[in-house]
Amino acid sequence: MKKVVLNIQNLNQSYEKQQRVIKALSLLIYEGSIVSLVGESGSGKTTLARLIAGLEVPDSGTIELNGEMVFGDDRFTPPEERGVGMVFQSYALFPHLSVEKNIAYGISKKENIRATVDETLELVGLLEYRSRYPHQLSGGQQQRVALARTIAAKPKILILDEPFSNLDTSLKLQLRNEIFDILKSVQCTVVFITHDTNDAMAISDTIAVLKNGSLQQIGTPREVYGQPSNEYVASMFGTIVRLSHEDLKYFGFKAKENRIYAIRMDELQTTPRCSYHTKAQVVKSSFLGTHYLNIGILPNKTKINFMTSEAVSGEFTLGFDSSSIFEFQKNPLN
Ligand code: ADP
Ligand code: MG
Repeated sequence: MKKVVLNIQNLNQSYEKQQRVIKALSLLIYEGSIVSLVGESGSGKTTLARLIAGLEVPDSGTIELNGEMVFGDDRFTPPEERGVGMVFQSYALFPHLSVEKNIAYGISKKENIRATVDETLELVGLLEYRSRYPHQLSGGQQQRVALARTIAAKPKILILDEPFSNLDTSLKLQLRNEIFDILKSVQCTVVFITHDTNDAMAISDTIAVLKNGSLQQIGTPREVYGQPSNEYVASMFGTIVRLSHEDLKYFGFKAKENRIYAIRMDELQTTPRCSYHTKAQVVKSSFLGTHYLNIGILPNKTKINFMTSEAVSGEFTLGFDSSSIFEFQKNPLN
């Protein structure tokens, strides 16, 4: 059995008597796993991270780290005693300290500080930058120092809150891979917060999806992508096209009452060689570089966006396979 590092049960949190921003949230995180926490802006990701770190006090619920209660049963362990490492999008390095002093900062006095600094600098590939100051480093390098400083303190769990959002795309891809390799090699337990589900898919064992402070689904990247529990989860991982019961009739698909149906835009096909298909009319076809984004119109005037590799016009066939349609329960909250 894998050891549980973080055990959150029924956690609730609100700011200054306002609406709850974390609602009845329960979550288990196992040792050595990389868990991505995704959700739209304002869904409560940072709040959850701050609650775990002890930077906010929950209204109710319990938080255990390595089997020890850090919140609950009238207990509140202060942040500095929790062993939770945080890396934010702003690097929060000490500007007046060199790279090595920044890293040495959080290391326990019981450790061989010099050896730990060297080990961590090597891990993040910055040995030759040890005497530099933060302003003499690129954004990506600063973020690696921030990561090194947190890892050097040997946290029980490491939380990265949108660590790449300040970086441009090409740098981000490179740094993402580097950081992923670093995290895997230290076998740290990681919570990786991101609104970019590509990042989440690329690096995590498990993805937890948050909406309005409630956990919607937790599973492997394959599970949350392939069997999303609701339309919100599905929409986090790509553009979703909702198909009404009437729309589905044209495709020859029998919809069940009280269910809603949706499909990923890139699963829509333009061939009759799929389980369900209909005739449609193209009203617009726009060239987007690698593909065309088209607007098709069904006989009942429903407009549907779909992609093709070539330009399309006039009448054409639009269809999908039975494996690619999502069926969700109708939820009054959706
Ligand atoms: P995310 O990180 O997913 O974007 P946050 O946890 O930052 O979401 O915010 C969740 C909700 O809590 C938002 O509605 C936000 O406006 C609110 N919120 C966050 N921090 C505070 C605060 N210090 N005081 C009041 N409301 C806050
Ligand atoms: Mg945030």
